[in-house]
Amino acid sequence: MALVGIARLAFESQLLEAKRGVEYFEMAARSILNRTTPRMPFQWTINPYRGCEFGCKYCFARYTHEFMEMDAGDFEEKIYAKSAAAQLLRRELARVKRKDHIAMGTATDPYQPAERRFGKTRSILEVFLRERGRRLGITTKSDLIVRDLELLREVARGNVLHVNFTITTLDEKLARLLEPRAPRPALRLGALRKLGEAGIAVGVFANPVMPGLTDGERHLDRLAKTTRDAGALWFDGAPLFLKPSAQEAFLPLLEREFPELAARYRELYARSAFLGGAYKETLRGRVAKIRERYGLEAGPIGYQPQLWDGEEQGELFPLQ
Ligand code: SF4
Repeated sequence: MALVGIARLAFESQLLEAKRGVEYFEMAARSILNRTTPRMPFQWTINPYRGCEFGCKYCFARYTHEFMEMDAGDFEEKIYAKSAAAQLLRRELARVKRKDHIAMGTATDPYQPAERRFGKTRSILEVFLRERGRRLGITTKSDLIVRDLELLREVARGNVLHVNFTITTLDEKLARLLEPRAPRPALRLGALRKLGEAGIAVGVFANPVMPGLTDGERHLDRLAKTTRDAGALWFDGAPLFLKPSAQEAFLPLLEREFPELAARYRELYARSAFLGGAYKETLRGRVAKIRERYGLEAGPIGYQPQLWDGEEQGELFPLQ
């Protein structure tokens, strides 16, 4: 079968390095900004990499490697960096309205280990450095973001920037099982604190919240309190979305480590990858109560970064 589209681009990508069982490629990209559907809270996404070495067992984005005619399991072992990311962004930003929200890191982590080698995320931030009045959100599990602290501060002087840290649990052992190669929760907390102290708007998403594993009242309460104390301004969590490609990685982990939960999950996710209904409502209420307890917001909207002072803040508005 002849390969077409993204599968052909992946096939033609040059292997640049292989270590610890992970192969890194540079891939030709036609575009770096993707338009989202109207029901999303952001209008555009940027993902500088395809695949993610952190290898979270529940990762919903595993299926994206299937577009490249690969197995979902290759998602964490074959990492593609998009070439000319900054040049593409400079060109494509012209069609983005300043009121539009741009989210970086929606499908893969922009600060995964590949970023040390390729620096694509940094090159994208350098484009935003020259912009005014843009709205950019970054989501990560990685303390590597601290490398770009000064750059982020500068971006936040002229643009609305916020950073979401994903922390599902503070239990290091559980985190190691669920997110085998992601930075430890303590490292994420440290990075959150540093960014917050530098005046960058930071918050936490406990996503995905996993039934019987991370959805307990005490578990979520401790997570919210600890992250609030570290500087988080908002906190939210939504139920695990478990597509069949993610089930292949997640269910064997449950069978091995939490056999009492495996049957329950098979039942819960038998008909749909989404957990809706009463479960979703109960979780929503629980998280809302916890937020209230600690004075946390539900999301970054409404935040005015402290770094907007003097002239920089004034410069934002004529461009809206
Ligand atoms: S960090 Fe995010 S993108 Fe990477 S494997 Fe984990 S869930 Fe997937």
